[in-house]
Amino acid sequence: MRTLIEGGWVVAHSGAGHEVHERGSVVVEDDRILHAGGPYTGPVDARLSARGKLVSPGFINIHVHTAGSGGDYLLLDMARNDYRTANYMSFAAPLKGKLTPPPPPTVAALRAFVFLHALKQGSTTLIDVGGLRGDWEGYARLVEELGVRVYASPPFRDRDTFMDSEGRLYYDEDVTAGQQRLREATDFVRKYDGAAQGRLRGMLNAAQVETCSEPLLRAGKDAARELHVPIHTHAGGNLVEFQRIMEEHRKTPVQFLADIGFLDDRTLLGHVVFTTAHPWPRYPFGDDLRVLAETGATVGHCPYKYAKMAMTLHSFQRYLDAGVTVALGTDTYPMDMVAELRWASILAKVTDANYQVGLPRDVFNAATLGACRFLQRGDLGRLAPGAKADILLIDLDHLGAPVYADPIKALVDGGCGRDVDTVIVDGKVLVQGGRATRVDEDEVYAKARRATEHYWSQVPGWRWDGATVDRIIPPAFPVRRAP
Ligand SMILES: [Zn+2]
Repeated sequence: MRTLIEGGWVVAHSGAGHEVHERGSVVVEDDRILHAGGPYTGPVDARLSARGKLVSPGFINIHVHTAGSGGDYLLLDMARNDYRTANYMSFAAPLKGKLTPPPPPTVAALRAFVFLHALKQGSTTLIDVGGLRGDWEGYARLVEELGVRVYASPPFRDRDTFMDSEGRLYYDEDVTAGQQRLREATDFVRKYDGAAQGRLRGMLNAAQVETCSEPLLRAGKDAARELHVPIHTHAGGNLVEFQRIMEEHRKTPVQFLADIGFLDDRTLLGHVVFTTAHPWPRYPFGDDLRVLAETGATVGHCPYKYAKMAMTLHSFQRYLDAGVTVALGTDTYPMDMVAELRWASILAKVTDANYQVGLPRDVFNAATLGACRFLQRGDLGRLAPGAKADILLIDLDHLGAPVYADPIKALVDGGCGRDVDTVIVDGKVLVQGGRATRVDEDEVYAKARRATEHYWSQVPGWRWDGATVDRIIPPAFPVRRAP
């Protein structure tokens, strides 16, 4: 089956980089791209008009948690200024033994919601760096049914985070549990790597640099090498973590990871905001950006999430200039990769006080080609002969968008995830006219809402101070809830 996508602005990869072809064409044959660029005159079986649309490689979202938006909502806990500045502990440090994991149908509902929510807004490959646990058979089935491309395995750590009754954060080390979780992860990779016609791939996830002991981080990296898969951990994500690593190892998180051999070109690090280059840690000793560049590790930049926590990289441009590979992700909600392009661009300009940085070219490259290094995938993030047919048709010609001369600048300046009209993964059309083709969207959303409201109702039961969600995150105005 050969399909010609014609009449749009085609972002084709020339071998040297992306190029934009006005009224270009893309030919898809089964799961691969046969042609991308100028006119195509060969025979085709079907035609798809892309008039007024950008025909873009699908975005590789390097930071997704398949846990739904319930916990994310608590991210900016107004009672927890001591997290400096709010972070994952807001929803991931319960009173010990008080947080009950959800049953498999709830887990499945939230996973489906995340996959489709991200897919509809431009993510064709999702790097799942850790979500709800269990029912891995169901996880693989979901990837199979929904048609998405995913890299995943259960995250592992040997220091769980808890709160005591005074709200003090503590780390509870259990070496055996960490080893078991690593085994669960390697079993997952052995069992599912290559499942769903090759769309489900394995990678390892050491949860956070400070929630893993040094032996566990070393064992995780060794296992990743043995399995020939990438590995991720969160590092440089908040000042609590930065300080803990300084106290334990007397090094920055980046330097520590480099020194234990964790960093190489198959390593993805989530966030890496706090480094020797950032002013807040007041630790200008060494050169973390050089270390990142020399080891070849990729930085997973999630600009919007960090901006809402009042933090950002210092800076996107400085990382690029130092030779660091930067890829883009969403982390929290909304998982809108188009918006993420704009946040990356604007925050780079504001941080450096320089409008000549954070160029549309560089943020678009980060959202497409940036992830290809640690994934070792020359067939993703680009439209070129032989590449996987992971394609977006993004509607740029409507009253909600600017009139433009350059469609990439229009996308970065004025686009949003809801402009994504068509999503093709592995040659299959998964979203058409902005609606998912394989599932009842309203039902997926309704199930996720029920699961999330149930989660919120349980919060006072595990929270150190018994606070309700409305007390943790006060609504913008008083909300008179219906009886
Ligand atoms: Zn994360």
